[in-house]
Amino acid sequence: MKNIIFIAPPAAGKGTASELLVAKYGYEHISTGDMLREAIASGSELGSQVKNIMEQGQLVSDDIVIALLKEKFETIKGKPFILDGFPRTLPQAEELTNIFAAENLDNYVAIFLDVTEELAMQRSLGRITCKDCGTIFHRYFENKKPKAEGICDNCGGELVGRTDDNEESFKKRFETYINNSKAVVDYYKDLGRLEVIDANREAQESIVDIEKVIND
Ligand code: AMP
Repeated sequence: MKNIIFIAPPAAGKGTASELLVAKYGYEHISTGDMLREAIASGSELGSQVKNIMEQGQLVSDDIVIALLKEKFETIKGKPFILDGFPRTLPQAEELTNIFAAENLDNYVAIFLDVTEELAMQRSLGRITCKDCGTIFHRYFENKKPKAEGICDNCGGELVGRTDDNEESFKKRFETYINNSKAVVDYYKDLGRLEVIDANREAQESIVDIEKVIND
């Protein structure tokens, strides 16, 4: 089973795919976006530094996310992992290769989740997440609505939308993604590590293809 680097625009379904893979295979889920949101929620200095940048849908500096990633990596030594939302720029990808080399880690694949902007926006604007257990639901998609409005089916926690899941921020994030991701995609293509998965489908369908890739 390979370690996974997800490369995907916002709301391509990497969060949902990660949830399924963590449950089935016991991956550690490493999301730089979650780490940054935790920093904001905790009221830390780092949090106040990145809050505006994130709300505007821009990228946090490479130095900050690379430092966060390295710290996290120390704590999961040896466990299989999913990188969700990192690397987003070429310098981040290059630094990741250095980290892997230092750990003698060669068992990984970069999975590009290919999705149209229109579908990603629909997903993004309806997305709600449990404050307590992180389960993802959707306001508009029938098969992903919670049983009771605003309440998590799993743990009864409160369901909230992300502050950056609004139309303006989504468009900015998508554009930022398009501008930066090509270099990252090309980087992994050149390394012979890239797999492209059609993510314009239900998560349960794309996951079948993802599983083929990781178990190959
Ligand atoms: P995500 O949850 O992955 O959609 O990330 C939410 C926001 O966190 C992004 O729009 C960025 O502002 C910031 N962020 C997360 N990961 C990174 C990264 N690898 N590099 C720069 N900014 C990031």
